[in-house]
Amino acid sequence: MDFILIRTNEISLKNKNKGIFMNKLKENIEKMLEGKTKIKRINNRFYITPKKNLKSYDKDKIKDNLNKVFGIHSISFVHLVDKNMEDIKNKSYELVNDYIESHSIKTFKVEVKRADKSFEYTSIEFAALIGEKVLEKFKELKVDVKNPDMILYIDIRQEGVYLYSEKIKCAGGLPTGTSSKGTLLLSGGIDSPVAGTLMQKRGMVINAVSFHSPPFTGSKTVEKIIELAKKLSYYNSNPIDLYMVPLTKVQKAYKEIAGKNIVVLQRRSMMRIATKISDLTQTKLLITGESLGQVASQTVENLGSISDATEKIILRPLIGFDKEETIKLSKSYGFYDTSIKPQTDSCTIFLPSNPATKSKIPVLEKIENEIDNLFSLELEALNETKRYRIFKEEVQELNDFENILGGTL
Ligand code: ATP
Ligand code: MG
Repeated sequence: MDFILIRTNEISLKNKNKGIFMNKLKENIEKMLEGKTKIKRINNRFYITPKKNLKSYDKDKIKDNLNKVFGIHSISFVHLVDKNMEDIKNKSYELVNDYIESHSIKTFKVEVKRADKSFEYTSIEFAALIGEKVLEKFKELKVDVKNPDMILYIDIRQEGVYLYSEKIKCAGGLPTGTSSKGTLLLSGGIDSPVAGTLMQKRGMVINAVSFHSPPFTGSKTVEKIIELAKKLSYYNSNPIDLYMVPLTKVQKAYKEIAGKNIVVLQRRSMMRIATKISDLTQTKLLITGESLGQVASQTVENLGSISDATEKIILRPLIGFDKEETIKLSKSYGFYDTSIKPQTDSCTIFLPSNPATKSKIPVLEKIENEIDNLFSLELEALNETKRYRIFKEEVQELNDFENILGGTL
């Protein structure tokens, strides 16, 4: 392989702001490939060449990494040859041969694009010509122009001929860092990491707040959240700051008095604390993994009661998703194995047997007002919050979140 071709899709539809999106994408690709490459932009595409020998690169790893960079529509590993029949033919044989070795195929077609109009054949003529040569050499193959198992792409350009055998579809979306910042409420479940990634896919950089209940939840719960945050950070193009908030005292304060409303009341506390963290860290909004009707706390009424606890916009990207759809995404983004690890969730500790499905805000406010020190307990939780800076596999615990009451970060 001589270079990696990166195609964009949605960005190419932008007019005036295209440069901003392409620059951000370039920066994110560079970060993902850790500076080992040179990247050139031509129009809506990037051409990546390695600083060292690309042959020593692990293609699967590159594929896997670039699949985590939002804004990329597809990639191809491209071979460049001189514009002469012999070289094109030999490289075609080589690519078909390599493909046969790793895939079981019966049919193929050749697709030629001719940007260089001075080339002696038309696209169709040249596709037929190379097709014939391939048929002669690989007698077991047949041509199928409608639904081939393999496509050999040949682009005839001014500077030479590009050949490749795959357009590898990537994650799409917009480059992270081209939209506002958001604060994800990250639980150890399946939904919230997916919700965060969907917003990253629309260009957001996120940080994360997670509530736990020591000593009822242990260090394994914290480790699980950190593992999820590591995975999220690959998509973030930036470190993820994770705020671990101990909610136990707040939860205990609700225990005797909240009855069937306890889940929604806890969520309101979470919203108030997450709002403070969002303000302190200058993010614009909150993100949750809620999905309409999935559990008792996610009825329209209860979502309304939860939203009422904050002035911030709450984005709920999974609101219309079935669990099955979310699980599929969780697997494809790589969270699933971590999400299903059986650690205790902070919310399941004080669960009522018959949670309210239609909470009423005045009733909730009345309970909140009956607990005199509720808001100071929430501030205390904020004050006891631990902050981690996580990027890829690196985790750093920061100590600058102490004594933040009234402070800024
Ligand atoms: P998830 O799979 O994300 O845990 P869920 O289907 O289990 O979601 P809930 O437990 O009701 O649903 O949580 C709804 C949303 O509230 C979560 O997606 C998350 O955004 C937020 N949330 C719940 N518990 C916590 C927590 N302990 N820390 C941070 N956010 C939480
Ligand atoms: Mg949950």
